Amino acid sequence: MRCHLCLNISWHPLCKNCLNTILIPNPTKRILKNGLVVYSSYRYEDIKNLLHKKHTYHGAKIFAQLTKHALLPLVKTFTCKDVYSLPIDDHTRSGYSHSAIIAQELRKYIKPLFGKLRAKNRIRYSGKSLHVREQNTRDFMITCKENLDVILIDDIVTTGNTLCEASSTCKAHNLNVLFALTLANTQK
Ligand SMILES: [Zn+2]
Repeated sequence: MRCHLCLNISWHPLCKNCLNTILIPNPTKRILKNGLVVYSSYRYEDIKNLLHKKHTYHGAKIFAQLTKHALLPLVKTFTCKDVYSLPIDDHTRSGYSHSAIIAQELRKYIKPLFGKLRAKNRIRYSGKSLHVREQNTRDFMITCKENLDVILIDDIVTTGNTLCEASSTCKAHNLNVLFALTLANTQK
């Protein structure tokens, strides 16, 4: 196949050269209004063209490659013994769940709890105003065991409202949320 960025022949959707030149991780640490810390690997602006392909077969592969390239090295620096990852709403709405792909790629270091944190409200936030986002909370439901140390996983942190809500739901379920991980952060 051809690399999605440079169009050179490549075994993977993103070639090694692009990963090591254009897609160098640019990690950020963001603290949300409820105190939750979010670590992200990229600025949204830097990878938005790739994220737009996320609902396609190659999009899923790209997500996996970016996670391995940029998020995995970050996770390796944490001590994650007996820590679980909770991918946010890993529902395969359009064929691929982005948070589940990320959690799957990190499984060697953080054990994923798939399908345990589900949103009852599935309105799509993409392109919606802040007002609409705030009026429509996700209304999460948790079905895992209590008293676990967890890391929340999502593809992008935008307003942070979804992560804040997920973290409150976790706390109400006696889960200890250590922090959150996303591939991209929209904050400049
Ligand atoms: Zn390339």
